[in-house]
Amino acid sequence: MKNFSRRSFLERVSLGTVAAAALPSLSLADVNTFQGRKLNIALVGLGRYAGYLAEGLQTAQHCKLAGIVTGTPSKAEDWKKRYNIPDNNIYNYKNFDEVSRNKDIDVIYVVLPNAMHKEYAIRAAKAGKHVIVEKPMAITEQDCREMIDACNRAGVQLAMGYRLHYEPYNMEIKRLGQEKVFGKLKLIEASLGYRSADPSEWRVKKALAGGGPLMNLGVYCVQVARYVSGEEPTSVTAQFGPITNKLVFTEVEESITWQLQFPSGLVATSSSTYNCRIDRFFASAEEGFFELSPAISYGPFKGRTSNGDEMNFPEINQQGVQCDEIAKVLLANQKLPDHISGKEGMQDVKIMQAIYKAAETGKRIAI
Ligand code: NDP
Repeated sequence: MKNFSRRSFLERVSLGTVAAAALPSLSLADVNTFQGRKLNIALVGLGRYAGYLAEGLQTAQHCKLAGIVTGTPSKAEDWKKRYNIPDNNIYNYKNFDEVSRNKDIDVIYVVLPNAMHKEYAIRAAKAGKHVIVEKPMAITEQDCREMIDACNRAGVQLAMGYRLHYEPYNMEIKRLGQEKVFGKLKLIEASLGYRSADPSEWRVKKALAGGGPLMNLGVYCVQVARYVSGEEPTSVTAQFGPITNKLVFTEVEESITWQLQFPSGLVATSSSTYNCRIDRFFASAEEGFFELSPAISYGPFKGRTSNGDEMNFPEINQQGVQCDEIAKVLLANQKLPDHISGKEGMQDVKIMQAIYKAAETGKRIAI
């Protein structure tokens, strides 16, 4: 890699022709070799979260918003002016595959409704572009596997848009848990919910969302239990909550609660809901506890431990930092870290499928 000319490096980044498995191991200092070069990201699906990403990308050092893919011509006009996007980098869902010929786009970031992630991740991979996918990765484990396979076949890398892996408060609870600072973990409680009552939202349509608040919000609760404990759950029990709004929740659950059992004896109990606001994490260990609330949203976060310590970390632009960290790795032509890999996203989807099965059957489901 060090012997590549800058031009051949850029072509390889752009065409994504380096198989992830063959990526050479370089220090991130090598990013400096490409000083001034920013990774060009195109966002697919210009909805609410794409707006956050676009603003975050304005703060990024190593990547920029270079392109957009949208089905709404008025958004194309608006974004083109607001973010100075060249006409050549603007696509719709029909002509999207032509991005394969566009050397000014390195990465496709899929920010579409959940059930569309698979199709656009696979089309992006076939176009030779690295892929970032929003959570949840897809709606079935099989879909996730196909996405991973497509990226491997195309020799491009696949990243989950797991913003909390760059968020200091969450990385602190990961450290406290994995380093067993308060001893062995016994119980985790992590819940995320907000009130939603819009029957036209794709999030309440099973075909597009794959499920209700579990798919949308519960994925974070599953994630946090896994990265704080460093363990994989072996079985799950779960219960659907009552449906209080029968007009809206005809296809997906309104609330769900579940209990993940881990090999060490740890239990992680969580709820995700569209019926009330909740955003908290609590871990009880043999010699104390640590907690965050808010814990999962965009902050500002607040955390404390049983030592009486208040956590005090800088607030960051989560989207900007996440994209920058991914960009640094891709610019250095390194392999993306496992904790944001497609395999990681697939494991969360697998666990969520087991949670649904447990709630539907009333049985403990092995994972
Ligand atoms: P929105 O509904 O706000 O936006 C989705 C966009 O997708 C639409 O604006 C539209 O863009 C495009 N789209 C294409 N086909 C459809 C369709 N059939 N129905 C609806 N939209 C369609 O959703 P969000 O931005 O909130 O969520 C998008 C993804 O991002 C989801 O997977 C979600 O889970 C994830 N997300 C992640 C967050 C995080 O914190 N990491 C936070 C919020 C969401 P266009 O008009 O340009 O075609």
